[in-house]
Amino acid sequence: MPDPTATEEASQVQAPFESWGRYPTYGAKLLPLHWQSDFPALTADLHNGALPVGMGRSYGDVCLLKDGNLLVTTAMNRLINFDAETGLLTAEAGVTLAQILDFAVPRGFFLPVSPGTKYVTLGGAIANDIHGKNHHTAGTFGCHIAQLELVRSDGSHMICSPTENPEFYSATIGGLGLTGVITWATLRLKPIVSRKIDYEGIQFHGIDEFLDLTNQAHDVEYTVSWVDVTSTGRNFARGVFMQGDHSTKKDDLKPSPKPKLVFPFEAPGFALNALSVSLFNTAFFHKQIHKRVVAVQDYEPFFYPLDKVLRWNRMYGKRGLLQFQYVIPWEHAKEGTIAILHEVAKSGLASFLAVLKAFGDAPSPGMMSFPKPGITLALDFPIKPDKSFPLFQRLADMTLEFGGRLYPAKDAAMTAPQFQAFYPQWQHFAQYRDPLLTSSFWERVTQNS
Ligand SMILES: Cc1cc2nc3c(=O)[nH]c(=O)nc-3n(C[C@H](O)[C@H](O)[C@H](O)COP(=O)(O)OP(=O)(O)OC[C@H]3O[C@@H](n4cnc5c(N)ncnc54)[C@H](O)[C@@H]3O)c2cc1C
Repeated sequence: MPDPTATEEASQVQAPFESWGRYPTYGAKLLPLHWQSDFPALTADLHNGALPVGMGRSYGDVCLLKDGNLLVTTAMNRLINFDAETGLLTAEAGVTLAQILDFAVPRGFFLPVSPGTKYVTLGGAIANDIHGKNHHTAGTFGCHIAQLELVRSDGSHMICSPTENPEFYSATIGGLGLTGVITWATLRLKPIVSRKIDYEGIQFHGIDEFLDLTNQAHDVEYTVSWVDVTSTGRNFARGVFMQGDHSTKKDDLKPSPKPKLVFPFEAPGFALNALSVSLFNTAFFHKQIHKRVVAVQDYEPFFYPLDKVLRWNRMYGKRGLLQFQYVIPWEHAKEGTIAILHEVAKSGLASFLAVLKAFGDAPSPGMMSFPKPGITLALDFPIKPDKSFPLFQRLADMTLEFGGRLYPAKDAAMTAPQFQAFYPQWQHFAQYRDPLLTSSFWERVTQNS
């Protein structure tokens, strides 16, 4: 099959390799993998370990290896096979979701699960077992991986699926790149007849209203909420509940135009302060003038509003940003979310990208997958060393008290005891780790063990 994908994503990856939060920053040697056979051949005399990486869209250090070797997979970006009867697409692991959409949408197919950016690789999406707005109806990305190939540093190749090498399949989905290099995978796409989404946006005030809307939208495929974490009093936890389904009315399935806007400079550290973020939150809430707005919308602004401006993370300045994402199980989801939102509002540390969502019951196939049934909240904080880290630790401890856990893909600050309490299965998982592969995240959260 001719390769219909562009290679521009591959050329975006250059030294120094940064994660999306731009914190921490480490030196590492970049070793591009062009062919599936490059690993482990390229790594014969390596010191300080290695880590496969994709687009570096993880926020913290799961995609970093201080003074080590990063095996950059983005040039391994060929589509291998597509079956239009079943929707099964086999592609190399460095293909991005943007490339898959460019191929699939004109043929009447869509991703089964999509994160908030399409600039992530297939391998990265599997290794973090990512989730999307349809977690409650579709589970995680890994639920749609029919099989994958895992290559280990001893040269062995393994086909992994729910029935073949199932323990390595489970360890590799959500396996943080530590079980081997995923060279290719087969993904189950879903049929669509239109690019359009039947969208509805509904204002809510408080967590009770959010939960009511969540219950009412049980059968709606995609749901997600933006929540104002800066307001207190009457406006505490106000937000906009956004829901949508793929339109069933046949329409033109043309490919998406390429994005043109790039955030042009490093913003000064003071650009995002409590006042500017609070103003943004008020404006965003009132942008939706009516309590309920119904619209037909293209999938790009619905799924990827942030992709419109490439490199928007520069807005946070050189110090970068810290993400914090928890899931708290239903038993304590409401009280935990209210308590954490109060703590964030009290801190005065701004976050305007605050996303609230209910996870569904579908079990994640990965041994170390993050999602479980309950409420998840994702927050961004500009890094202010004396304030952001103490707040983060308080929030992480509260998450633990409420029986929740944090998402490694978004993390740069949880401690080893916190990680080990969030993921008590980590030692069992460690048995499947490839001895050559490690990450700064893994070194950090398993130290002293
Ligand atoms: C704006 C934005 C929105 C986001 N929204 C969401 C969201 O809604 N839901 C969600 O779950 N996540 C979300 N994320 C996080 C993102 O989806 C994940 O971090 C994703 O894994 C990044 O993929 P990547 O290709 O950039 O991989 P990287 O960040 O480079 O690497 C991620 C992990 O995958 C491993 N890896 C990469 N390639 C391979 C391979 N070939 N073989 C083995 N291991 C490999 C790496 O070792 C690392 O552990 C978002 C990120 C951004 C920037």
